[in-house]
Amino acid sequence: MAKQRFTAFNEALNRAPLEYNGHNHPKYSEVFGINVFDRDKMRCYLSADAYESLITSIDEGRRIDRKIANQVAAAMKAWAMEQGATHYTHWFQPLNGATAEKHDAFLSIDKDGKAIEQFKGEMLVQQEPDASSFPSGGIRNTFEARGYSAWDPSSPAFILDQTLCIPTVFVSYTGEALDFKTPLLKSLTALDKAAVSVLEYFDKDAKKVFATLGWEQEYFLVDEALYNARPDLALCGRTLMGHAAAKDQQLEDHYFGSIPARVTAFMRHFELEAYKLGIPVKTRHNEVAPNQFECAPIFEEANLAVDHNQLIMSLMDRVARQHNFRILFHEKPFKGVNGSGKHNNWSMMTNMGVNLLSPGKTPKNNLQFLTFLINTMKAVQNHSALLIGSIASESNSHRLGAHEAPPAIMSVFIGKTLSAVLDELEERVSDQKMTPDEKTELKLDIIGKIPEILLDNTDRNRTSPFAFTGNRFEFRAVGSSGSCASPMIVINTAVAEQLNAFKSEVEKIIAKGIKKDEAIIQCLRKVIIESKKIRFEGNGYSQDWIDEAERRGLPNIQNPIEAFKTFLHKSSIDLLTENAVLTKRELEARYEIRNEIFLKKVQIEARVIGDLAINHIIPTAIAYQNVLISNVKGLKDLFPKEYEQMGDHQITLLHEISEHIHQIRKQVDEMIDSRKEANLVENVVERARLYSENVRPHIESIRYHIDKLEMIVDDEMWPLPKYREILFVR
Ligand code: ADP
Ligand code: MG
Repeated sequence: MAKQRFTAFNEALNRAPLEYNGHNHPKYSEVFGINVFDRDKMRCYLSADAYESLITSIDEGRRIDRKIANQVAAAMKAWAMEQGATHYTHWFQPLNGATAEKHDAFLSIDKDGKAIEQFKGEMLVQQEPDASSFPSGGIRNTFEARGYSAWDPSSPAFILDQTLCIPTVFVSYTGEALDFKTPLLKSLTALDKAAVSVLEYFDKDAKKVFATLGWEQEYFLVDEALYNARPDLALCGRTLMGHAAAKDQQLEDHYFGSIPARVTAFMRHFELEAYKLGIPVKTRHNEVAPNQFECAPIFEEANLAVDHNQLIMSLMDRVARQHNFRILFHEKPFKGVNGSGKHNNWSMMTNMGVNLLSPGKTPKNNLQFLTFLINTMKAVQNHSALLIGSIASESNSHRLGAHEAPPAIMSVFIGKTLSAVLDELEERVSDQKMTPDEKTELKLDIIGKIPEILLDNTDRNRTSPFAFTGNRFEFRAVGSSGSCASPMIVINTAVAEQLNAFKSEVEKIIAKGIKKDEAIIQCLRKVIIESKKIRFEGNGYSQDWIDEAERRGLPNIQNPIEAFKTFLHKSSIDLLTENAVLTKRELEARYEIRNEIFLKKVQIEARVIGDLAINHIIPTAIAYQNVLISNVKGLKDLFPKEYEQMGDHQITLLHEISEHIHQIRKQVDEMIDSRKEANLVENVVERARLYSENVRPHIESIRYHIDKLEMIVDDEMWPLPKYREILFVR
């Protein structure tokens, strides 16, 4: 093993499991939310009037009243300072998918030159971060490099590192959304209105409907020393080269296996930090691949769940470093090893706590359940391409369709029981008026018979991108590094649109003198028929399905560049503008930003693999060639007659190595030329296309030759830690 590799490996091996495995952790229920300015704390620190006003704004999703902003700010400051906070920041989610913060001290100098701690209402409601470097897709010209951020009261403030963090929306000077949160909140409002309106048929007490989200976050852990010895991991978040280890996941022995002590220590640590921030993490387990793990919380209201996912990702990253790990959220850090996703479990819940995707006890409850289930399916069909677009990224494209993650074709799986119910409804209902007997029969035989608990009944089809799992849908194509907000925006809005359409259809039929229940059933049958092509119960990884999907006319969008174009489809623009979620300009900006991020990622990877190939790999291959050459020369000196036969293996290797070196050199040159050519193009979208078509393929083909060399060159000389070394945690 090469010396630097040996040192890194040894360092990793010698790391003792860390103290967080200790037993002296606090009782979790006691620390839960201690660093959050939640309702209990609001009540303590605010006057009764201010508290009432604030809670009303939160519950009704309204901006907080300017008049009480000062009081709220004073209360937050008092609480935060008691906890030792010295700074505050507006915490927001710019379109690069990360979170951003700019810290300001509470410290201020008053007019008499005296130092005081200050935090006023206007600092809560409106902040102007100097944010000219956040992507804005041309919306915010640099000369007016201003964005405003304002507290989103539906997500509580929290303290992290002695800083009061205030979750905020981020909009441009001209009012356009520059973040994920603004359209997410708007999509939640659209869904709320539409769902409450449909609920008038079923539940008059329902005054508000929330989307619920429970994400499942997958990730890899890598030892820090090994990570630092791999420039590709450090700079790109994934390995750009590396031959498969002799053993990785073939034995499928990692999933639900026991978690290494060092990893448990890390998990306990970040879970404790998460509890303090009110993030209800619940499950942890190993994933399929070595070094791969998952954590999932108890679901929450979608906006809060999105914030919590963003927050926990940064938390995990920080805690991992304290344990000499690096965490990888990249969707495909290792070739040939399963990648990471982030399943988004989604449902709708009323203010009465009723889950709208949960079957009930009575036929009436079940009709309500079927209404929301069937309309959700139709919504997914209506906007299946945009849903793929919403989760498309450079990194996620390495995982989608790779027989480990759902294919880039949207379909909905509902399981045998429900499929049978929908089929029967389709068969037995018609446009004709039903007799009272027929109605009773239908209610009792079919609708009334849906088992209350479907959870155990739904055979879990792991290959479906959008699966019904008993009381929620699970969107499985979301990438591990991406924001949940983007797919949530599309699902919420698409379902809102479909529910509105459904309601107006039902009203039309009622207007013809048909009774409410019957009108609903007739309309449901229509939606069942219309949404047939999105239903698929089979193996989503099979070639048969790809062919079948094509026959059905379902989009199959594998290339991210193509997927981004769905933002500009007429149906997408209509959907998002008509429901007041995003304007056309905002969509165009988002389209541009996605392209820009894609091209930058490819550009970085291309540079890194080029440098590694020329500076690390080729010199190592040449050094090994020299060893072989002197060996052959020596043989020739000693055995002038038999040397060719004796050096047979070495001579073949010399040829092979030369060929790989030649290919690498050639491909790197071509890649650099393609980059130069693409960089001359002004238009970002066009440049991204050139990067996708002309630069990106070289990364894979250069890798091919490097991986071959890794197999040939003396292990002792190879400069980078190998997969078998990185993919272990003990
Ligand atoms: P699995 O790996 O079998 O999919 P997990 O327990 O890892 O199951 O994750 C299930 C996720 O689904 C959890 O985050 C859970 O909170 C979430 N979930 C359960 N019910 C709902 C619901 N009604 N709405 C949204 N998410 C839900
Ligand atoms: Mg799941």
